[in-house]
Amino acid sequence: MEFFSPQPKPSRKKSKKTREKARKDCCEYCGKYGSVEVHHIKSKGSGGQDTPENLVSLCGVCHTKVHNGEIEKAELQALKEG
Ligand SMILES: [Zn+2]
Ligand SMILES: [Zn+2]
Repeated sequence: MEFFSPQPKPSRKKSKKTREKARKDCCEYCGKYGSVEVHHIKSKGSGGQDTPENLVSLCGVCHTKVHNGEIEKAELQALKEG
């Protein structure tokens, strides 16, 4: 029996397939591994979209810093420019 699920979300268990997405398990800013939160570099209110270029995975610490203005948006954009 199969259910249609467009975006299967792995639960707490990590399957082998999630290894490809391992990068998403670490903060793109400080590189810390663990649970990350997705932040919109350009907020949706400002026209930002759900594109990889506009989304950055941040640990809780860095995410808070971004919202506190301790990490500048330009720094996040620089991460994306590689
Ligand atoms: Zn971080
Ligand atoms: Zn955020």
